[in-house]
Amino acid sequence: MSVYGRVRVGVMNYILGRPLVRGLVTRRSDEVDILEDVPARVGEMLTVGRLDTAIAPIAVILQAPGVDVVPGLGVSCDGPVQSIRLFHKAPLSELRRVALDGSSRSGAMLARIVLERFEGARPEYVGRPPVLLDMLADCDGALLIGDPALTAPTDLAPHVDLGELWKRRTGLGFVFAMWGLRPGLSQQKRERIAELLEWSLSVGEEELEEIVVEESARIGLPPDEVRAYLGERIRYRLGPNAMNGLKLFTRLAVEQGLLPPDAGVRWLSSSPPRALGRRVREGATARGRGEEGSLAALLEHGNLLDLGAAADELRFRLHPEPVVTYVVDRNINYTNVCVSGCRFCAFYRREGDPDAFVLTTDEVLRKVGELVDAGGTQVLMQGGLHPKLGLDWICALVRDIKSAYPSVDVHSLSPPEVVHYARTEGLPVRVVVERLREAGLSSLPGGGAEILSDRVRGAVSPHKCTADEWLGVMREVAAVGMRGTATMVFGHVETMAERAEHLLRIRDLQDETGVFTAFIPWTFQPANTDLADLPPAGGHDYLRTLAVSRLALPNVPNIQASWVTQGAAIAQLALRFGANDLGGTMMEENVVAAAGCRFRVSVEELRAIAEEAGFELRQRRTDYGGA
Ligand code: SF4
Repeated sequence: MSVYGRVRVGVMNYILGRPLVRGLVTRRSDEVDILEDVPARVGEMLTVGRLDTAIAPIAVILQAPGVDVVPGLGVSCDGPVQSIRLFHKAPLSELRRVALDGSSRSGAMLARIVLERFEGARPEYVGRPPVLLDMLADCDGALLIGDPALTAPTDLAPHVDLGELWKRRTGLGFVFAMWGLRPGLSQQKRERIAELLEWSLSVGEEELEEIVVEESARIGLPPDEVRAYLGERIRYRLGPNAMNGLKLFTRLAVEQGLLPPDAGVRWLSSSPPRALGRRVREGATARGRGEEGSLAALLEHGNLLDLGAAADELRFRLHPEPVVTYVVDRNINYTNVCVSGCRFCAFYRREGDPDAFVLTTDEVLRKVGELVDAGGTQVLMQGGLHPKLGLDWICALVRDIKSAYPSVDVHSLSPPEVVHYARTEGLPVRVVVERLREAGLSSLPGGGAEILSDRVRGAVSPHKCTADEWLGVMREVAAVGMRGTATMVFGHVETMAERAEHLLRIRDLQDETGVFTAFIPWTFQPANTDLADLPPAGGHDYLRTLAVSRLALPNVPNIQASWVTQGAAIAQLALRFGANDLGGTMMEENVVAAAGCRFRVSVEELRAIAEEAGFELRQRRTDYGGA
């Protein structure tokens, strides 16, 4: 038996529940007790604490205080499903009395919404056992759910499939049930249960054919029908279409008085699901052409669509709501003078060059003021490694910004700048970071990481900080209680093994410190640089690397899509390849622009990118909290 004690699991006694609990039933009977009943009873037992977890009707989940929900898993459909059928002896708009099988509250709620909202009917509803002939004896409508709906005679009355009707009227999927966790469970036990449920479903997916044979014999439906039902019509992993359907269903149910105004899902917040990252990665590898499990192999020749699907799945486990975030920010380059001379940089100038500049405090403050006037919240201020500007100068600038605009997040500088100030001042990195934090620095962007391999850095940016120094700065940032981001600039001189090394070093530091709020991979822009002969990385390489990044970094909560280097079309695809954030609006951007990359978007364009891909666009702050 597990150290967490036995787990009491509730599941509906319909065939659609079988894949969900396959692994638990066949391989974990020493650890779990399974109770099967109709969905409404299962939900009820969860809410009163008689079950540790249950696949509960969404009508229960949406109004169960203290019940946390496992993200990404559930029961949904995206069109005809055949297990929620409304039989009717009169046109839908004229129904007067509808018999409800009381076994599912979600199905009953869906019927009420569809009839009232879409058909204008307000029939009386009465509870009846799920026997169609009896239900239609004194009613002109009858709702059947689950196995009774699948096996009902279809010659007694016309019927509509409510999954199909919902899809036709809304264009969205419908979520029937999700895994809830009873209040009062320890966090460790919740995470263990979530892990078990995920694993159990993956066993069910692998053994679907056996389930089809067993269930076909049990309920007397032809195997092809059971296979189509369990394998195609029912969806066990919830993507944006299902989640958007849930959002609309909740709103309509609240408007109709079927749910309280505060109805909503409370998501389980869990520690990094590394095992899940590994599982989906291995799944992608097994389905793809590359059979080795290594990240380098996936980066080299992993199947793009398999990787995308796996990354999308993990993204929805981490961020179940169909929401994409962005921040209104402004890039301010306080100087272009730099002693580093990186080969991939088209931005820097030497001191004394005619177009070398250092902005004055007034110029910086004017730019920040324009940002604030435009509703912006984040200043991303970065510069070259200027030989003469000292720590006092940059701290004074940060302090002036914060005192003039206290609400602005100063998400500025980068590890190479911090190392530069430490070197020129002869101070430990910790002291530099503390002084910046005291001046008002909110968090440290992860610029200058390029590829965290000293061979690569020696080739493209030999005078910049080493990989260990970059990671060391972020370790100090964590030590003083700040957060930061991590970046990766790829598609230049690195090998796939070095790209993989970069990802693993970020993952390890995140395990150690939890410092990173986000990972931002983007492609090297060769124009106007010493490496202009290199072919630019294309959208295929970008999307594959993005997906592998999501899978390799399940412990980093957010992944940014790079519209600035990829443009709107690829950025939109990126939202289904693991990215959940569109980064900043970048009122001003000079560094990538200097390399010939001038994609620009407005908030309205960001909204179009997100909404066309099925997401709501939401403004955030630097810490990824609400704006
Ligand atoms: S990338 Fe940064 S550090 Fe390197 S030369 Fe350009 S400005 Fe300097």
